[in-house]
This record gives sequence, C-alpha cells and structure tokens, in this order.
Amino acid sequence: MGASHEARNTGTGTPGAVREVDVVVVGAGQAGLSAAYHLRRTGFVPDRDFVVLDHAPRPGGAWQFRWPSLTYGKVHGMHALPGMELTDADPARPSSEVVAEYFDAYEHAFDLRVRRPVDVRAVREAGSGGDGGEGRGDGGSGHGRLLVETSAGVWSTRALINATGTWDRPFWPRYPGQETFRGRQLHTAQYPGPEAFAGLRVVVVGGGASGTQHLLEIAPYAASTTWVTRRPPVFREGPFDEDAGRSAVALVEERVRQGLPPRSVVSVTGLPLNDAVRRGLTDGVLDRLPMFDRITPDGVEWDSGPELEGGRRVDADVILWATGFRAAIDHLAPLRLRGPGGGIRMEGTRVAADPRIHLVGYGPSASTVGANRAGRAAVRDIRRLLADVPAVA
Ligand SMILES: Cc1cc2nc3c(=O)[nH]c(=O)nc-3n(C[C@H](O)[C@H](O)[C@H](O)COP(=O)(O)OP(=O)(O)OC[C@H]3O[C@@H](n4cnc5c(N)ncnc54)[C@H](O)[C@@H]3O)c2cc1C
Repeated sequence: MGASHEARNTGTGTPGAVREVDVVVVGAGQAGLSAAYHLRRTGFVPDRDFVVLDHAPRPGGAWQFRWPSLTYGKVHGMHALPGMELTDADPARPSSEVVAEYFDAYEHAFDLRVRRPVDVRAVREAGSGGDGGEGRGDGGSGHGRLLVETSAGVWSTRALINATGTWDRPFWPRYPGQETFRGRQLHTAQYPGPEAFAGLRVVVVGGGASGTQHLLEIAPYAASTTWVTRRPPVFREGPFDEDAGRSAVALVEERVRQGLPPRSVVSVTGLPLNDAVRRGLTDGVLDRLPMFDRITPDGVEWDSGPELEGGRRVDADVILWATGFRAAIDHLAPLRLRGPGGGIRMEGTRVAADPRIHLVGYGPSASTVGANRAGRAAVRDIRRLLADVPAVA
C-alpha cells in the first residue's frame, strides 16, 4: 500500500500487459480467504492493491472436491473464517456444499473479488528473465518485484501470499509391482464414496484420518477390507483440546523452522478415538497390518509378518491409497526456496530467505484454525515490509 497506486496498470483485460499490485494471494481456500479478509480490513483495495487467484472452478477451496459422504457433521471441527460465522449448517449435508456456499457468501460479503479459474504456473524474480536467483539486483534482500505467471496473464507484485493447500498434490508412494496390479488403484483425492466399492475386495493404505474414515464407510459395502499402514496407528483418547493442539502445532513449527518438509497432521496429533472408530476396532475393520512388500497382479504380498488364511498375501480388486498430500507449491520452484533439508525454512508464515513470500495453510498452519491465524500474521508482516521499502522497484 502506498504512494504507487496512481501509476498502476489496473486494467484487467489488456492482452500481454503486466498488471501491478502490492500483493498477490494464490489460492482462495481457508488460508487465502483469511489473508484476503485481513488485507481488505487494513485498507488494501481488491484489484488495485491486491488480487486473489484460484484455479478451481467455484468457491470452496479444496472442500468443493471432497466426497459427498464427508458430511458437515463428520468433519473434525471446521473453524469459521474471520469476521463471519458459519451458522445453521445442516450436519447431514455434504461439507463440499456447505463450505462452498459459505465461502461464496464470504467472498461477496467482503467483496474479495476472487479471480477464477486462474492457474498460477510460475512465480519468478522480475527482471531475472530466467529461473530465479540471479539478477535480483538487491543483494537478496527480497525487495524487488515478483512476477506471477498465470493462465490469465502476468501480475507483478511486491509480496506474495501463497495459500495453495495440498489437495492438488496427492502423495502416491511407490511399491514394487505396482504397475502390474490388474485391479483399480485410486487415491483419497479421487474417493467417490463407499457405494463404488460394493462387492469388491479393498486394500486401504494409510494410517491417517482419511484411511480410517474410508474403511469405516466401505466395510459395510465391500466383500472384504484390509488396512495396511507403515507405523502402528496411535489412537488418541479424549477431546483434542487447545493444549494438545498447541503442542502438535509446535512440533510441526519446529520442523519447518529447521527447513525440513512438514509432517502429516496425524503424525503429531494421533487419530481421534470416537464411537465409530471404537466399533471398528471391536469388529475388526480397523485391524491393521504392516506395510506389504510388493504388489502383485492380484493383490498384495508380504515377505514376512502377517500369517493370513491364504498365506502372506491378500487378493484385492482395489487399492485405495489414503497416503496423504504434499504442499502444492511447484509454481514456486523458479524461486529455489527449498534448502538442503528438503523443505523451505520458515519464520512463522514468512519464508526465512525471502520476506516477500508467505506460505499460509502450510505446515503448522495446515488446519482451518491455523489457516485463519496464518492469514492474519502474513498480512501484518507484509504491511510492515511494504511500509519499509520504496513502492517502485
Ligand atoms: C479429507 C480432508 C478433511 C479435512 N478435514 C478438516 C477438518 O475437519 N478441520 C480442519 O481444520 N482441517 C481439515 N482438513 C485440512 C483442511 O483441508 C485445511 O485445514 C484447510 O481447509 C486448508 O485450507 P487451505 O486454504 O490451506 O487449502 P485449500 O482448501 O486446499 O485451498 C487451496 C486453494 O488453492 C487453489 N490452488 C492450488 N494451486 C493453485 C495454483 N497453482 N494456482 C491457482 N490456484 C491454486 C486451489 O484451487 C484451492 O482453492 C482436512 C483435509 C482433508 C484432505
């Protein structure tokens, strides 16, 4: 924000024109909308000072893609966005619909003017003309502009709030023989709901909340279910209170401060032991096996370990990979933010090596409540940054 507004090209449609703003927010899920709300509240004007870009067709962030049987009543505590409660939602309705409607109303209420579908393909240094790093001309202080290349043209910006979540990067582990499997393999990101598994023998891989939910849903329809996880699952008794939340967040925070890739949420929170999970443990649906050694055309096999009826193998029609997601940040690759630890070293929501770039909904803020807070923190920081530096690069 500042003196540079008049000199802007705020046009929206000139082909080839580079549009200048102070802040680009990439992603309009919980984290991006929280950031946009705080930008608006502190005087940034949409289209003139900032833009929010999202490649999904509709409002709702990744929630719009979640399976219909993930009803609003089944989510583990969805925090409302800042400034507007989500009231009177029917717990029996799909969360994909409830959240999409709420986000839509929110975007209108605060006039956030999200542009969609706009796919952000690459972010690079302005003036570098190449793959980043060189040509910065500011000794790495991070005060040059960034170019945001998208399916709808290029924006030049002084700061970037990246809020792209993880849904677009499902993680598929690789196992020997995987390509020989004659059945169907799918990931949580493609889970269609339990009816699709009627009469089939299903192997579910993954020890997270999605894996347990899939099993509990599928078991009544499937001919058989088998659960395999790398580590024995840890179930958590009692409510996940604020103290537990704080210590879980602190663990992930420490990892990203050191430049390590963030861990899955379940690795630090454990699985909630609710009534449905207790029933699953009692009736055997949640009997867990260790990870198999290979995939065969007909199923999965172990070299040692479980002694099952048919030997050390399970025949399967479907392998459902509930193996989580990674941060969807490939478009930031030209900036070479990853360090030797394989992750991006962070200080709060800010990339340690580049104060213009904030990752919200990333690592410790990858929850609805974390995303809310991260949006606010990023805006607070960026306001300070923009006040400190000359408006024209
Ligand atoms: C099955 C499931 C259930 C969950 N349940 C809960 C829960 O009950 N409670 C909770 O707190 N958390 C839950 N989470 C975690 C939850 O998803 C996050 O807390 C939060 O909703 C993520 O918000 P976000 O804004 O970071 O990401 P998203 O909602 O994923 O939004 C990211 C947005 O960025 C856009 N985008 C991505 N890449 C690009 C690009 N290159 N260009 C343009 N746009 C892009 C996407 O279209 C998307 O709209 C769940 C996660 C999963 C997978």
